[in-house]
Amino acid sequence: MNMRFELADAKTVGITGHVRPDGDCVGSVMGLYNYIKKNMPNIEVDVYLEQPGKEFYYIKNLDKIKPIADETKEYDVFIVLDCSDIERIKPFAQCFLNAKKTICIDHHASNSNNAFANNNLVMPNSSSSCEVLYGTLEEDEIDKDIAECIYTGIIHDTGVFKYSCTSDITMAIAGKLMAKGIDYSDIIDNSFYKKTYIQNQILGRALLESILFYDKKCIYSAIYKKDMEFYGVDGKQLGGIIEQLRLTEGVEVAIFLYETGMNEFKVSMRSKKYINVSSIAVHFGGGGHVRAAGITMQGTVHDIINNIGAQLELQFSAIDK
Ligand code: AMP
Ligand code: MN
Ligand code: MN
Repeated sequence: MNMRFELADAKTVGITGHVRPDGDCVGSVMGLYNYIKKNMPNIEVDVYLEQPGKEFYYIKNLDKIKPIADETKEYDVFIVLDCSDIERIKPFAQCFLNAKKTICIDHHASNSNNAFANNNLVMPNSSSSCEVLYGTLEEDEIDKDIAECIYTGIIHDTGVFKYSCTSDITMAIAGKLMAKGIDYSDIIDNSFYKKTYIQNQILGRALLESILFYDKKCIYSAIYKKDMEFYGVDGKQLGGIIEQLRLTEGVEVAIFLYETGMNEFKVSMRSKKYINVSSIAVHFGGGGHVRAAGITMQGTVHDIINNIGAQLELQFSAIDK
């Protein structure tokens, strides 16, 4: 796919990404927005997204994000990034449905049999949607601001170049982006590693209360609404907890849950080497990647862990055989 070709006849373009946007979602959505703004000034472009976390403050034009859909608009092209399922662009789904042409740029394995746009570029072997997006852009039209966005997505979805989704292509692209003069150290520290004092406290609490199960091969921890209220944090500020759980010695699968409503939890799953957490997430109506997947589930923590545990057991016992 070539973005210039796709937008050749477009006068109006809308862009969005998934709910609870992470670094790859913010990076790809804003990378494309800034690319169109800079290189195709005749196109009227709108960007729709839930408010990104504070750690993305350095991304250019973040203040141009519209949090509410203009449902009367009929965009010539509407582009969805980093999203495997139309359900996950819900607040802006009407703009998608109204559009004359729709495009999806993504890398979720769970998107493959779910292609929901007119034109789908889904590359499950790519580290990030930012990596997929990069391939659609002209290298010489990428400036420092656009490079910062794309680099952000790559470091977030690769855990700073260490998850198995990182490839030599990922590193080559990162190198090209570095050559645009971005402050890569600052981007990594400020958007990925930096935690507030409160975030560290709640991380400590989640680790303190974590529980090993399935012969210490799995670990889970949950944060309840009352705790989030006590610390004054929302879901956006709980990033990094799952990552620390995953690093526990001997653990193959980490699960982190936070309460989003009455008997409702946002569940994150990560695996290290061989368990496919995406298929478990898909089984319960969510999605993601082989080693990182998510889902919203109903029930108590006990119910949810029991249900996921049964699916994990199926995979573990198939491997043990
Ligand atoms: P998270 O645990 O939220 O960081 O998500 C891990 C990966 O799974 C990310 O690539 C998400 O985009 C994806 N993901 C999370 N929740 C869902 C869901 N409910 N449906 C589909 N994909 C999801
Ligand atoms: Mn994402
Ligand atoms: Mn992604």
